[in-house]
Amino acid sequence: MTESDFSCDLCRLAGPVQYRVCSHSEPQWKFVCRTCWTRVAAQQGYRYGGTRKADRRRRKR
Ligand SMILES: [Zn+2]
Repeated sequence: MTESDFSCDLCRLAGPVQYRVCSHSEPQWKFVCRTCWTRVAAQQGYRYGGTRKADRRRRKR
């Protein structure tokens, strides 16, 4: 596991981008991968809180 990747709170899959979501069944904010995001988005009470990226400090070329 590298520091540049986060892992999904639901399936533990690591990736460079996570989506911040919550729903009625997941009342606490979670960071999830794109696959789990679409699953949570289909639930009742779904809310979207933004994205986070591992390489946000990457230098511009
Ligand atoms: Zn996931």
